[in-house]
Amino acid sequence: MALSEEAQRIVAKFDYTNEDVNEGVQEFLRQMKEGLEKDGTSLSQIPTYVTSAPNGTEKGLYLAVDLGGTNFRVCSVLLGGDSTFNLTATKVAIPKDLMVAESSKPLFQFLAKQVEEFLRTHHDDHFQAYIQRRKTLSSIERVREEEIFHLGFTFSFPVQQLAINKGTLIRWTKGFDIPEAVGKDVCKLLQDAIDDLHLPVKVSALVNDTVGTLMTRSYTSPGKESAILGAIFGTGTNGAYIEKMDKIKKPVQGSYDKSTGLMVVNTEWGSFDNQLNHLPDTPYDTQLDKESLNPGLQMYEKRVSGMFLGEICRLALLDLVKDPAISLFKNDSQTTVAEESGLNKQWGLDSALLSTAAEDESEDLSKLKASIEKELKIFAPSLEDLKAFRDVSAAVVRRAAKLSAVPIGAIVLDSGNLETDEIVDIGVDGSLVEYYPKFRDMVMETLASIEGIGEAGAKKIRIGIAKDGSGVGAALIALVATRME
Ligand code: ADP
Ligand code: MG
Repeated sequence: MALSEEAQRIVAKFDYTNEDVNEGVQEFLRQMKEGLEKDGTSLSQIPTYVTSAPNGTEKGLYLAVDLGGTNFRVCSVLLGGDSTFNLTATKVAIPKDLMVAESSKPLFQFLAKQVEEFLRTHHDDHFQAYIQRRKTLSSIERVREEEIFHLGFTFSFPVQQLAINKGTLIRWTKGFDIPEAVGKDVCKLLQDAIDDLHLPVKVSALVNDTVGTLMTRSYTSPGKESAILGAIFGTGTNGAYIEKMDKIKKPVQGSYDKSTGLMVVNTEWGSFDNQLNHLPDTPYDTQLDKESLNPGLQMYEKRVSGMFLGEICRLALLDLVKDPAISLFKNDSQTTVAEESGLNKQWGLDSALLSTAAEDESEDLSKLKASIEKELKIFAPSLEDLKAFRDVSAAVVRRAAKLSAVPIGAIVLDSGNLETDEIVDIGVDGSLVEYYPKFRDMVMETLASIEGIGEAGAKKIRIGIAKDGSGVGAALIALVATRME
């Protein structure tokens, strides 16, 4: 069989029909409800203690840090009070040896060190003044309130939130594994590391990136409506939405502002349908899961987000390469797959390459070719090889985009907002949705195929990138937390 036909055979395995989408939405709605009723369900539906969205008038200078999955970001945010902000930010890759370790101490020491460097680089005046004063401070004197930076900590892993600045880690995801930290208060872990360095910083709020995205979208988006959902499609995927308090049947401990009757709920939808009642399953999904750090968990995330799409694609391509009867990357003696090629290594194919494949509209796929040579160390691939790569990778991402419409569609339907005249606003963040060509368009098209939404409903839904979502959102929540004190 010709390579193109073989590639189409793989492509077909990633079919996810509109009928599947509609079934998925019903299953998601059921699991949403279940998660609001009790603990230990597939969707954790975690109350976040955030009870209102900003309206754009918030003001002040705040610090924010974001432990995503791939990068650690430190920033300071000056909220202008007029829907605008000024952001100063730095970003470093998280060292791999800190992600999987015996103790979480080195990880948090690393994070605190980045905060210190950030303060020295960008807020040195303030920082030096504090150091000077600390030298003269007696032990009973307290640091003045105005000398302290309030910091919002975006921590994008499942956490049992106990207060706005307190939460215990439920489990690691996205390739992290530090068992010692599970069950511990991550705010305290960060505060301890910050205190060891004597920084004038108070960890005021613990924020999930999804909540930060929701807040940012509400602060910045035009119009009076606040966003109903914040969603991430980056290393991992997750969403947080505004829920009516009376629908949260499980107990919400501690104090929070009850006046709005609302609370932001963090779905932890990465673990939607871990039972595989509904999710599509190819041999490549099965293999990826089996070889992952957390088999059987985050099953939805493993089909949707940036960390996994490249790997699914790699496993599918490898299947073709291993079959001697199939010509992929075997163009006589011309094509060579280097021994150290990412094709032969777990996680060796970065999802960014899938974007490159989708972006290349040239006849000879020359840009894709150059990237495959550079990134994958596969030299002189044929045009047929390149087309097979393009088609398989597009199928993997198309399925991911259609799957992404499942929780979004379910939450839109559940909100009841389609029945009003208002725009249903959604904020999104993460490299996959930001950089993969037409990812949002594919999601929108799929939303239109959902019963109860349809073409007309989809026209009322607006999905916007919440740029710098985690930083601004964390600052906004730190502001709310400081006010509550
Ligand atoms: P984090 O999850 O740490 O907040 P990002 O939102 O930047 O970080 O997501 C990083 C993930 O996105 C990685 O898994 C990476 O493979 C993937 N990614 C990065 N660039 C692209 C791109 N251009 N297209 C698709 N995926 C990408
Ligand atoms: Mg992120």
